[in-house]
Amino acid sequence: MEHFNTIIEPFRIKSVEAIKFTRREEREAALREAGYNVFRLRAEDVLIDLLTDSGTGAMSAAQWGALMQGDESYAGSRSYFRFRDVVSDLTGYRHVIPTHQGRAAERILFHSVLEAGQIVPNNNHFDTTRANVETEKAEARDLVIPEGRVPSQVHPFKGNIDLAALGRALETEGDRIPLVMVTVTNNAGGGQPVSLENLRGVRRLCDRFAKPFFLDACRFAENAYFIKKREEGQGHRTPREIAREMFSLADGCTMSAKKDGLANIGGFLALNDDAWADRCRNLLILTEGFPTYGGLAGYDLEAVARGLEEVLEESYLRYRIRSTEYLHERLVGAGVPVLQPAGGHAVYLDARALLSHIPPRQYPGISLAGALYLEAGIRGVEIGTVMFGLQPDGTERIPPMDLVRLAIPRRVYTQSHIDYVAEAVIAVAGMKDRLRGYRIAKAPSVLRHFTAIFEPV
Ligand SMILES: *Cc1c(COP(=O)(O)O)cnc(C)c1O
Repeated sequence: MEHFNTIIEPFRIKSVEAIKFTRREEREAALREAGYNVFRLRAEDVLIDLLTDSGTGAMSAAQWGALMQGDESYAGSRSYFRFRDVVSDLTGYRHVIPTHQGRAAERILFHSVLEAGQIVPNNNHFDTTRANVETEKAEARDLVIPEGRVPSQVHPFKGNIDLAALGRALETEGDRIPLVMVTVTNNAGGGQPVSLENLRGVRRLCDRFAKPFFLDACRFAENAYFIKKREEGQGHRTPREIAREMFSLADGCTMSAKKDGLANIGGFLALNDDAWADRCRNLLILTEGFPTYGGLAGYDLEAVARGLEEVLEESYLRYRIRSTEYLHERLVGAGVPVLQPAGGHAVYLDARALLSHIPPRQYPGISLAGALYLEAGIRGVEIGTVMFGLQPDGTERIPPMDLVRLAIPRRVYTQSHIDYVAEAVIAVAGMKDRLRGYRIAKAPSVLRHFTAIFEPV
């Protein structure tokens, strides 16, 4: 069978969940009631939900089976040691601290090691990462390579950090930089991978300036597969070997197991530094729980442990990366402006380019996301001026891109679902002149995209 070209879903389906078809009037009413913010819709009223790939994946029969093996002892549970062994075998880090999801790992790390006025460089901070840095009154500085800021530009490792810019920052402002982060893959920059060569460059700079280096590792397996496919001399290695090398170049990581942990909840912070680990564990006890469960049930730890192994299977990664690329290819073929090249977990529609008649301050991404729901029952998410435009001082800045992300949940939708999405996006792009801008009627002062209410201009 290795000589056939069709890439198939590397699983068969054991259990199904019906999805609900709605009428257009129902969707119109639902969207109006949601204040034109798709985060506020009832998931039941969505046909194909591409809001996020976070926690929305299908667990395997082996993971469901592992749930029954969960040891719910408060302290020192067997499930913790199983989880810890899988994480330390993968990452090589000395301390493994479970958390209920990625942002808890971020909050615990940043609250323990950041001071007001300091700077955290990253390729691109994701929204929760940025918010957790800014909450400590520190600066989240994005230093992705220039190619990473241009949606139409193709580059094999568009998530790479600009090493020259990072070097300059360390040189001139190093006393205010307590750690360097790199996000693999670069979610806020389009799910784009970071090369091993780039990670080695970060390691060298961190060695030179004696700074710890942390990975935001949410999609480490997808990043490892891109390295295998695209980086010279890496094609013969397994995704696991590559992932191990990625982790070995850093001193620690924050992780959301809702992504490449193939679980519905969970995360961890892992690191080598004993003093930082002590501080983090003390805060963990205050806000998450005892260090051997960190806000998770024993069965969650089992599901994550199993998921971290399955996610590195090559047949899974081949199908995963190919299904995203397939949707991307169909849209490019129809002339829909999308961020180039295809990301690992999502296709990003370039709303600013498609809806060039809607200025960024009237949120083209909100307009496009709303139209996809109205026309087809598909839910994507704005990644643009609403998500990233609000400054800590309350003013609005225009970020480099206004995108709508269509994130593909892991192992959930089949090829015909994806064909439907492609047809629908192409149809909505064809009626772009009819789409209008929005204004914000009401919004909170942090992470406003989750709950803001909009009205048509
Ligand atoms: C999802 C995500 C996070 C936060 O993880 P949660 O589990 O949602 O709290 C942090 N960084 C990146 C890159 C992410 O994609």
